[in-house]
Amino acid sequence: MKSKNQAPILEAVDLTKHFHVGSFFSRRIVKAVQDASFRLYPGHVTALVGESGSGKSTVIRMLARLYEPTSGRIIFKGQDTTEIRSRSQMLQYRSEVQMIFQDPFSSLNPVHNITHHLRRPLAIHGKLGSRAESKDRIHALLKRVALTPVEEFAAKYPHQLSGGQRQRVAIARALAVEPEVMLADEPVSMLDVSIRLGILNLMAQLRDEQRIAFLYVTHDIASARYFADETMVMYAGHIVEGAESEQLIRDPKHPYTQMLLASVPDPARGLRTQEIEIRGEIPDLTKLGPGCPFAPRCNRAMDVCNTAMPGRTELPGDRWVRCYLYEGYGAAKPAGEPVVAAPQGTP
Ligand code: SF4
Repeated sequence: MKSKNQAPILEAVDLTKHFHVGSFFSRRIVKAVQDASFRLYPGHVTALVGESGSGKSTVIRMLARLYEPTSGRIIFKGQDTTEIRSRSQMLQYRSEVQMIFQDPFSSLNPVHNITHHLRRPLAIHGKLGSRAESKDRIHALLKRVALTPVEEFAAKYPHQLSGGQRQRVAIARALAVEPEVMLADEPVSMLDVSIRLGILNLMAQLRDEQRIAFLYVTHDIASARYFADETMVMYAGHIVEGAESEQLIRDPKHPYTQMLLASVPDPARGLRTQEIEIRGEIPDLTKLGPGCPFAPRCNRAMDVCNTAMPGRTELPGDRWVRCYLYEGYGAAKPAGEPVVAAPQGTP
């Protein structure tokens, strides 16, 4: 698998996040993320795929240190970042681990021009330099994200740009502090289908040329297949399967991944999907039992599935799954070869 024969740059170890909701008399706990463990590598894209409410955005916000984990560790270059207490250390971490948000318009202040948006992170992280140096840096960033002529774009305001151009500014702003990790939270889902591919290709360039490690959060498994080297699938707060992207899509092991792939519509392309029954909804995260949260929707569920969450089973081909079918219970049914359409916007 690409770039994985090296040390991880960022590692989540048993990362868990519980939110307390409701009043004093009806307090409930939302178990948003439970025991999430994975590694990010330089020059490598890892996708985290799941339905809305699966917990994937909470994972990315914990890694960005916007949410404090309830338990677990976030190891960056060998250091446990959950132990960071000083402001300067946190600032350093945030310069090396940058986030790209879903909505490029709300992440840019409409009253400031693009020069201001790119100058600000340089100033915060002490990389501004002289007036001429900062101008050169801003122009180089705009060129890096293909917003040319650079003088013209530097003077524009967010409302004068298209959605795709605004997302390119957001990426340039993240690049300003020379990050080693980018956490991209649904970065193309709000963009017109015709420009999604351009943004994915730009991020792929940054992976290949600057060796940036990406965590790409998406509900679109087709774009994960296109962009990500490795894909993990999340359901109701648990990461249930991980594999090289093509392998996962060609041969999904977990019943939820099989169901997710079977639900991908592909009418125009004549591609085939599996005939797997889709039933039920994501469970209420305040009422999860001790067992596998997918059990109420799973047509392979057994008694053991309701006793405890299955552990991680390593499978041949550098992949893994959390399902009792692979722990010797029942008989793991081959998934066949469900095929998903290429990401929207593919020429
Ligand atoms: Fe289905 Fe049981 Fe596997 Fe969960 S552990 S996906 S309920 S078979």
